[in-house]
Amino acid sequence: MSKVFDIIAKEQARQDQNIELIASENFVSEDVMRAVGSCLTNKYAEGYAPVRIDEMGNRGRYYGGTVHVDELEEYCIDLWRKVFNTDYHVNVQPHSGANANLAAFMAVLKPGDTFLAMNLNEGGHLTHGSPVNFSGKIFDAQFYDVDDNGYIDYDIVRRKALECRPKLILAGASAYARTIDFQKFYEIAQEVDAFFMVDMAHIAGLVATGYHPSPFGLADIITTTTHKTLRGPRGGLIFARPELAKKIDSAVFPGCQGGPLEHVIAGKAVAAEEALQPEYREYIGRVVENCKAMAEKFIELGYDLVTGGTDNHLILLDLTRLGLTGKDVQDELDRHHITLNKNCVPNETRSPMKTSGVRIGTPAMTTKGYGKEDFISVAVKIDEIIKGMKPEE
Ligand SMILES: *Cc1c(COP(=O)(O)O)cnc(C)c1O
Repeated sequence: MSKVFDIIAKEQARQDQNIELIASENFVSEDVMRAVGSCLTNKYAEGYAPVRIDEMGNRGRYYGGTVHVDELEEYCIDLWRKVFNTDYHVNVQPHSGANANLAAFMAVLKPGDTFLAMNLNEGGHLTHGSPVNFSGKIFDAQFYDVDDNGYIDYDIVRRKALECRPKLILAGASAYARTIDFQKFYEIAQEVDAFFMVDMAHIAGLVATGYHPSPFGLADIITTTTHKTLRGPRGGLIFARPELAKKIDSAVFPGCQGGPLEHVIAGKAVAAEEALQPEYREYIGRVVENCKAMAEKFIELGYDLVTGGTDNHLILLDLTRLGLTGKDVQDELDRHHITLNKNCVPNETRSPMKTSGVRIGTPAMTTKGYGKEDFISVAVKIDEIIKGMKPEE
């Protein structure tokens, strides 16, 4: 047997044993696994299904034998429209969230164009204009800061937009514990005549179930990953107003990708079927409830939380007052089989490799059946471990 299966067995054991608190991770169902591990991995299908050709005048597929993957992709698209209750155009081919963002930018921006996004140290994502990423190299990325309490301040966003006159305004974050007011972003985008894009990678599951306001109807383009709160396979999706459909499709293929991963698209379809079940809505409800319970416990134990709490599936602990780095806390918790990640905090003074905070999320362990009491016990355990650590300086 290949050595690979030994490694997989060890990883399986790690996933079974550890308390998984990485806010962007989750555990997929057996059916999602089966779809992703299927024969569809063998199939090339560059292009789009014939239905799309009629709609958009695209050139269709570049390979034969695509009749079944054509059916699959159209089925997948229909399901995601249902999940978000929308008639937006859907592209299910992006290999990841980063690829979805790359294609979305390429669809409406030219190299050198200005876009406005959340400061990376304050909760934004790498693909929202980091100088080491395509988004910061190809485009002129401008950033808005959060306020001193860690909240998005829409006056700051508006002032910055009026100042830099972006062609696109991007809302969405990887480490923001509060509800985002898409209506306010939309109004600012209207005022400066910019495209309005939402990257809902983290909160898509909450949007699908009504636990976060929806950007549909407001945003021109919406991107997401499928593997975070949506609990599907690793991948991306793009939604767009119908008039942007052709631009989005050609930006994905041939603009940024070659052949789609049909086995992953199959997994995305299974995840969408699951997201349409009432159990999924109950699951997201528990994710949010568990996160609140954990946040309250941390506050009771004397911790500083960025924004002082949470509205969603994640918490940001600010360790500044304890003199500990995010990296040291992450490593120490790892030794105790608790997995989370270091994270920058607003007004960060340390490097992104060290940071002064950690991010904690409830989606994965809620999937494993954890309830409020379990998460409260985990908060207590984390506190005990942190109390045993020595400050850096
Ligand atoms: C996770 C994330 C992405 C990127 O997803 P990948 O699949 O890792 O490329 C993009 N945007 C946001 C806001 C994210 O949180």
